[in-house]
Amino acid sequence: MSDSQASVRPDRRAELAAGLARVRSRIADACAAAGRDRAEVTMIAVTKTYPAGDVVALAGLGVTDVGENRDQEAAPKAAEVAAAGVTPRWHFIGRLQRNKARSVVRYADAVHSVDSVRLARAVDAAAAAARDRPLDVLVQVSIDGDAARGGALPGSADPDVGLDRVAEAVAGAEALRLTGLMAVAPLGWEPERAFARLAELAAAFRSVHPGATSLSAGMSGDLEVAIGYGATHVRVGSALLGMRPTLR
Ligand SMILES: *Cc1c(COP(=O)(O)O)cnc(C)c1O
Repeated sequence: MSDSQASVRPDRRAELAAGLARVRSRIADACAAAGRDRAEVTMIAVTKTYPAGDVVALAGLGVTDVGENRDQEAAPKAAEVAAAGVTPRWHFIGRLQRNKARSVVRYADAVHSVDSVRLARAVDAAAAAARDRPLDVLVQVSIDGDAARGGALPGSADPDVGLDRVAEAVAGAEALRLTGLMAVAPLGWEPERAFARLAELAAAFRSVHPGATSLSAGMSGDLEVAIGYGATHVRVGSALLGMRPTLR
């Protein structure tokens, strides 16, 4: 019952409000420490594994941007949230298979995880068929150059996954708008080292694509460091909604 109405109980709402207040103050403090304007940083609430009711409640608390990483979960959740009359900006932040592109472009306002030319083409074709305005795309970049873990490879001439080739494919696509870079700190790297490297990559990237100013980096555990190195979008899940029971 409460499910179909996408509502939450008052205690859950209070929990979300408290999480949101903590995360907002962490972001504000990090911006102050970095000498940055708070308005430069968008918080994306990563709601994976949490129900549509939480999204609706967060929207009621002023959250405008929501992130999901699996289409199977995100598509019905976005529909349920829309049915509740709430329209946040949906960011698709997870690994994307080409055969899911047609579904994702229907609800996503931005995709942060395009990391190959083939995927860029699939998303472009899907967006051209299903949307009346371009889809924002951030190219996911690999900070450590480990191709197995996803992300386009900086400095690589590989025709499918070289960062320059992926960016060109997105920039040249009719139905896509190249807005920036996304990255996840590699396992085992200090966030400091990871985001310092990312800042260098982003600076080089902007010299070629001056309009692509977004930098999606930083999660619950490392958002302060990411903001210190120029993140414009932080993707915050557990610090906001609570620990997810298991990774799926
Ligand atoms: C789950 C996820 C996040 C949020 O992680 P938390 O540590 O819960 O804040 C951020 N980015 C991506 C790509 C994710 O999959």
